[in-house]
Amino acid sequence: MQDFSLAQLREIVSLLPDPAFILGSDGSYIAYLGGVESKSYHDVAPLVGQSLYQVMPKEQAKWFNDQINLALNQGEVMTVEYDLNVGQIIGVDDQSGPEGVLRFEGKVVPLQSLFNGQRAVLWLTRNITRRHKLEQKLLTLSQTDVLTGFYNRRYLLNSLKQQLHLKRRRRQPASIILIDIDYFKPINDQFGHLIGDAVLKEVCSRVKLVLRTEDIAARIGGEEFILLLPSTQMAEAMVVAERIRCDFEAMPIQCGEHSLQITVSAGVTELMPSDSVSSALNRVDKALYSAKSSGRNRVCSSPTNDNTN
Ligand code: GH3
Ligand code: MG
Ligand code: MG
Repeated sequence: MQDFSLAQLREIVSLLPDPAFILGSDGSYIAYLGGVESKSYHDVAPLVGQSLYQVMPKEQAKWFNDQINLALNQGEVMTVEYDLNVGQIIGVDDQSGPEGVLRFEGKVVPLQSLFNGQRAVLWLTRNITRRHKLEQKLLTLSQTDVLTGFYNRRYLLNSLKQQLHLKRRRRQPASIILIDIDYFKPINDQFGHLIGDAVLKEVCSRVKLVLRTEDIAARIGGEEFILLLPSTQMAEAMVVAERIRCDFEAMPIQCGEHSLQITVSAGVTELMPSDSVSSALNRVDKALYSAKSSGRNRVCSSPTNDNTN
């Protein structure tokens, strides 16, 4: 390294735009360097001399302290990502930097020398809030059906794969329901595509009301939807499907001045340990076909024929 004077080194370090902390293995803030870019960072100098546990909730302080000790034990640079609501950190003026919950990337570097008689890390932080928000947005877009807000086919296939994995490892039940709107084409033909789109949206809103937060609802084709119900056996899934069917039978959909009476057909099956994504989908497709061919506005199940279930 070039031979800088101490004054030059001080100047360079103090002007680093991103902040860096020296944090002790006991969770103490030993020093704070750089972080001059006030549009991205708060003035956290008041933290020096305090402990993580004094300035933030215990859980969060413990998480930071664990990362410090992990990096020290592993002896190598660790990269972490975390959210921080600076307004909740005692001693930091939340007006001195950006508002709200911020996303940070931290590089945790184990140091060789002792600081205040203890082992310590250099914790370099970078405010990545903008990038993170964009990533989250792109992720949501890549998983979502734009018209209805349901998940898309790709997301469903991935989730199904995961559920099958869980099924094999933990023997957890899970079921799928395939729903198809009956005689949907005539609705488009008679009222136009825009009304057709409005019906699709309304169908999804209604279906959503019947589901639990852990259920996954996806639009996998024009007017076809798959509901993936974790921790659900066939009989319970049949009840859910029947409830959805009855819901549409009982109440027409209101689209502007049109009151449209639609019905849905559904196939139901439970996942088996021996299933692949395609075998499970084939089975539920057969069940839907039975519902359609036996008159529509019906729910049919497809037996699993698997005694390892
Ligand atoms: P079935 O009872 O056998 O299911 O009859 P169906 O008319 O519902 O089924 P079919 O597969 O013949 O037609 C599905 C229609 O869904 C055809 C297409 O016009 C319509 N559709 C597909 N995607 C969209 C969409 O995004 N918006 C609208 N408005 N209609 C769509
Ligand atoms: Mg249809
Ligand atoms: Mg269809």
